Amino acid sequence: MTRMAPLLERNEQFARTYTPAPLSPPTAQMIIVTCLDHRVDPAIVLGLQLGEAPVIRNAGGRVTQAVIEDIAYLAFLAEQLFGAQLDPGRLFEVAVIHHTQCGTSFLTDPSFRQQAAAATGLSEVALEAAAVGDPQVTVKADVERLLASPLLSPKVSVSGHVYDIATGRVTTAVDARRPQPAVHS
Ligand SMILES: [Zn+2]
Repeated sequence: MTRMAPLLERNEQFARTYTPAPLSPPTAQMIIVTCLDHRVDPAIVLGLQLGEAPVIRNAGGRVTQAVIEDIAYLAFLAEQLFGAQLDPGRLFEVAVIHHTQCGTSFLTDPSFRQQAAAATGLSEVALEAAAVGDPQVTVKADVERLLASPLLSPKVSVSGHVYDIATGRVTTAVDARRPQPAVHS
């Protein structure tokens, strides 16, 4: 007996009235990067429907190298599949959303971080990089990190937002911006 049983029952309900979405560009023209926290589900918090936006989630919603690589691939895929249907020069906006009361905030405490490293085998450096202490600060840092990556398509813009667990409200911390064109000398 799996604990999936009640969820599979819900899926059965879902499938009864389901209409498959065609393979087409994400209709919201957005990619969401956010925390895996079960209180921060973008489908519910942002009302996202099927086919509207890819969502990339990890602990904290941090812009890691893996996240940057996923976005680079999605940009390539969008151009290959839907280039003719999209605005020239514009693919999508990436919204990075960090949140208050993040479970990664404990990792800002060095002794907690040491314990976590010892217990999991993860490096303290990696754990520290995952921590969201103040989401206003980390979301700005992650928007800059993504914009500075040479892997980011110049056709992609990036914005930063904070979700407040206490109020359910998402506020914008960094307006959408495209990467600076590379300077060649
Ligand atoms: Zn979190």
